[in-house]
Amino acid sequence: MNLQRDKEVDVLVVGGGTAGFGASVAASRQGLSVILVESTSKVGGVMAFCPGMPWGAAYPADRIIGGILEELTNRLERMDPPAAEKRPCTLDNFGPEIVYDHDIATLTMFEMLEQSGVDVRLNTCAIEPSMSKSWIESVNCFDRNGSFKVTPKIVIDCSGDGDISSKAGVSFSKGDGNGNTMGVTCSFHMIGVNWEDAFSDPDPYFTQHAARGIREGRLHADLAKLYLMRGFHKGSVFCNSVHIRGVDGTDPTAISAATQEGRRRCHQLATFLQSDVPGFTNSHMALLSPTVGVRETRKLDGVYRLKGSDLARGVKFADGIVCCDNPVDDVMRSDASMTHEAIVQKGNYYTIPFRSLIPVNVANLMFAGRIVCADDVAFASVRGMPQCMAMGQATGTAAALALREKISVQEIDTAALVAELTHQGVKGIGGHSLR
Ligand SMILES: Cc1cc2nc3c(=O)[nH]c(=O)nc-3n(C[C@H](O)[C@H](O)[C@H](O)COP(=O)(O)OP(=O)(O)OC[C@H]3O[C@@H](n4cnc5c(N)ncnc54)[C@H](O)[C@@H]3O)c2cc1C
Repeated sequence: MNLQRDKEVDVLVVGGGTAGFGASVAASRQGLSVILVESTSKVGGVMAFCPGMPWGAAYPADRIIGGILEELTNRLERMDPPAAEKRPCTLDNFGPEIVYDHDIATLTMFEMLEQSGVDVRLNTCAIEPSMSKSWIESVNCFDRNGSFKVTPKIVIDCSGDGDISSKAGVSFSKGDGNGNTMGVTCSFHMIGVNWEDAFSDPDPYFTQHAARGIREGRLHADLAKLYLMRGFHKGSVFCNSVHIRGVDGTDPTAISAATQEGRRRCHQLATFLQSDVPGFTNSHMALLSPTVGVRETRKLDGVYRLKGSDLARGVKFADGIVCCDNPVDDVMRSDASMTHEAIVQKGNYYTIPFRSLIPVNVANLMFAGRIVCADDVAFASVRGMPQCMAMGQATGTAAALALREKISVQEIDTAALVAELTHQGVKGIGGHSLR
């Protein structure tokens, strides 16, 4: 214990990915004191680990979801020169997406955290909650100077993996319920690509080239489809193709091994693109992932488990906090197949209920982002970064309602929450149409 470094705050946000960013900004703007602990050296989470990955599902039914995601996008689009733009996605069944300059986007997110007054602690890990029955009394955190204690009134777990929630007693399942989790991915960019030549082939997955590379032993067998997309800057191509299967994202040893293996395969793919694919001859590799991006680990049990059947029916929940129309984007969960089948008809969408962000048994804990309570089908659709950011915004806003009323998170008036989020510019929730 280190009394000088210990902190008492209204809200502790664990994890500075897109969900943690949304939660921290929203809570702080409600006048709450917020500390955000992020175990790596950068804000963004998967967005930082796979630099330049587009924000998908930002436009269900071709309308922006609003809220903090829209504010961030506007800030980037209005820069001179613009640092973001809306583009159609080249892959099947995905709606338009936002591409952006990665460094300017993460800098802007950091500035928004600063401007909101969030106490951001990078390179700081939340280790262990201290419980008093169904209440988190404090959370032990650790940085290079040792451990310190954060005593929050509310904890928002945005860690992607839910270490703190599970240690607080929230039950969970992993992956598809049988322990199969989606592949982890090492991404990179190719810089100096001739876009016209590279994308002259109408096949968005470059399958013929990939088949030749695999046949000749120059590409790994799991590279049957090459996910190559125009990056934000002309001549850059984002390569989201190298997936490692069967990796437990909560095991640091497995993540280290997958990162090394992923980097090897990225280098192999970059070399192949240069030698074999038109347009890539004079390009070079850049922005190689510092670590693999993890899609799926624990799914926490919440008050409501969002189901694939809810999505298919386009359910708009009374306590819905964000809209989504993403396909069921499954990446190599049980075998090498990658599918993104549409789940709602074009022009329709569903909403994610607030109850999927609330545990049954801990009174001052919420969770947001890819640890949302969802079955395997629903999870494969809801996990886009815009939705994670909006889930964070909902929990950060909900924290203020709970503290103002001195109630548990399970008792939050969801109608009041939806009204406040609508006031903040989140669109298409609580009976409003997505316009
Ligand atoms: C390879 C890949 C490609 C994808 N492609 C797309 C795409 O094109 N478009 C799209 O919109 N979405 C995409 N997704 C999905 C999306 O990126 C993720 O679902 C989303 O970023 C998850 O956000 P999050 O904030 O919930 O979690 P994460 O981004 O995982 O962030 C969690 C953060 O918590 C930190 N953390 C964890 N434990 C602790 C702890 N104990 N203490 C402190 N910090 C901690 C981590 O370091 C991390 O920064 C992709 C995902 C992957 C992996």
